[in-house]
Amino acid sequence: MPIKAVRGVRDILPAESPRWQRVEAAGRSVFEAYGYREIRLPLFERTELFARGIGEATDIVQKEMYTFEDRSGDSVTLRPEATASLLRAYIEHGFQVQPKPVRLYTMGPMFRYERPQAGRYRQFHQADVEALGETHPAVDAEVIAMLMDFFGALGLADRLELHVNSIGDAGTRPAYRARLLDYFAPRSGELCPECRGRLDRNPLRVLDCKTPGCQPVIEKAPSILDSLTAEAAEHFERVRACLDAMGIAYTVTPRLVRGLDYYVRTTFEVLTTELGAQNAVAGGGRYDGLIEQLGGPPDPGIGFAIGLERVVLLLGDEASAAAPVAVLIPLGDAALSRLLGIAREARRRGARVELGYGTRKLQRELERTNRLGAGFAVIVGDDELARGQALLREMKSGAQRGVPLEGLADELVGLAARPGAAR
Ligand code: ATP
Ligand code: MG
Repeated sequence: MPIKAVRGVRDILPAESPRWQRVEAAGRSVFEAYGYREIRLPLFERTELFARGIGEATDIVQKEMYTFEDRSGDSVTLRPEATASLLRAYIEHGFQVQPKPVRLYTMGPMFRYERPQAGRYRQFHQADVEALGETHPAVDAEVIAMLMDFFGALGLADRLELHVNSIGDAGTRPAYRARLLDYFAPRSGELCPECRGRLDRNPLRVLDCKTPGCQPVIEKAPSILDSLTAEAAEHFERVRACLDAMGIAYTVTPRLVRGLDYYVRTTFEVLTTELGAQNAVAGGGRYDGLIEQLGGPPDPGIGFAIGLERVVLLLGDEASAAAPVAVLIPLGDAALSRLLGIAREARRRGARVELGYGTRKLQRELERTNRLGAGFAVIVGDDELARGQALLREMKSGAQRGVPLEGLADELVGLAARPGAAR
């Protein structure tokens, strides 16, 4: 029996790659326009980094991590998210001496042991962006604006909803936690078993539950916005004023607390109604205090992660990779040696051309040219070679004309530059 890929892990096939490239390119160009620079991080870290950086009580650390001992007996974990690694690197390389905010982004695979379904995988990809060292509310608003500009660049803005909230600061939490417990304790019978466990560990997490049965109870829970300290309330107000100044539409959703332990003040999520239960396309928030908790300077931070699989799913079936502009068909070895150099020159100048090897019948080569979707076939047999000519055949019309071999590379480059060159 042939070996198959691991459950929840998928190949991104060539038909899908152009969409991935578009998404990644949109990310790079939008993030870089806002002054973010790319950092490339390792795929695995010491387990304790995630335990400390994400929070022991989170679903991720409790049950989703790929953790193993390496051969020297150290416990390492495939990264389930990028923020902890990025902050580790920020501290390790002394980024705090750079002008603040330090703006960094990264993209790549993440690993979580989850139940695989459409839009939820065990290896998936995120684009992750972090602004470090600045608490000004305008930073929060600009980070959110950049996220929405990313979706705008992909033409997805109209199909997504932006939700924002503040979950307050250290002064907010104890009071709100007490109010939540007062509310949930007499209703715990209506919650799922997991939420009953969360009530002990972290009642805020109940607000994040996706179980339909819990929703009626969650919907009537007290709002965290009523428990904000004056300082946290003012910060949130100013974030919203900056968003308004940029004309960014959003909904304030007081129950949006996010799954990670480290968030304070601003949190936000981008949701779609098109992917069923996998409705979160991106999420983020502020995490002042986390860098210090990881042994670094007392620098604040804010960031977000975009789930790239879900973005690609939203893009649907767009036109796939460009076909070659032409397939060069030598009929025999002499023609092949002449065409090898011409093909190479055309490619060096950016034309996408394919070359046959002179071993198949012309009819087969033309069929193959059709299947590849090439616009033209260039046929060179012994007769053509003797005359220093190639036969250029337009596949759609079947029209043929002679082109001097001398000028063939130029001709191919010119054809490739025409709009709609390949079919
Ligand atoms: P969800 O509620 O869907 O589990 P999350 O809150 O766990 O999401 P984050 O940790 O905030 O997700 O990660 C940011 C984004 O990464 C999510 O909004 C989602 O688009 C994507 N994402 C998270 N987990 C997966 C996964 N297992 N497969 C595919 N994408 C994922
Ligand atoms: Mg999750």
